[in-house]
Amino acid sequence: MRRGEYYEAMKALAAEKRAKYAVSTSQLGLREVRTIYKAEGITIDMWKLSPRIRAVYMCDDGDPSVLISRALPKEPRLFVMVHELKHHYRDRAIIARGGMKCGDYNANQVIEIGAEVFAAEFIYPEQEFLDCVAQLGIEAGTCTPEQVVELKRACGAHISYTFLRKRLEWFEFVEPGEFAKAQFQKLEESIYGLPIYKQPWFQRYRARKTHAKAK
Ligand SMILES: [Zn+2]
Repeated sequence: MRRGEYYEAMKALAAEKRAKYAVSTSQLGLREVRTIYKAEGITIDMWKLSPRIRAVYMCDDGDPSVLISRALPKEPRLFVMVHELKHHYRDRAIIARGGMKCGDYNANQVIEIGAEVFAAEFIYPEQEFLDCVAQLGIEAGTCTPEQVVELKRACGAHISYTFLRKRLEWFEFVEPGEFAKAQFQKLEESIYGLPIYKQPWFQRYRARKTHAKAK
């Protein structure tokens, strides 16, 4: 199978599994993925991994398990967990011979990119992205950082700005690297204000609560 065909097959696999688990983009969070893991019989272990490794898929004696780096924030963690699902569905035979450390792109390039393609499509299907982009009137060559913020807030998917930037590059709405240095999170906060958990009153409130609990 040629590479392009393999990646298309991974997208089709993502669509099939989304349908199987009745996934809707805005409802898909960590809790929902944990439910899928449970249904697939995969054990999750949160682990302190080296920064280069995000997760490891293992399958000893037919018992699948995934180690996940504790250091990962919510959106990258969701992405990595879905990435590991692809190894579960497709790469068990190779993995049974010694585990697969995700992040080792040189050793398993096609398999790893295939897992990235699967995860991206599973979490936020390309067609939904294209529909949202069209609705917001975003056009190739004129896309602004403010529009990227608008897209992130409108899309409903639990994804990072890096995810969106890569998608926009892939579909040539922006040049490769054009927004590599853009600080979308800061821009969003300057337009819409700080999220509650970053507001000083909330941090004081939480600190008091934690303090009270410790007593
Ligand atoms: Zn991987």
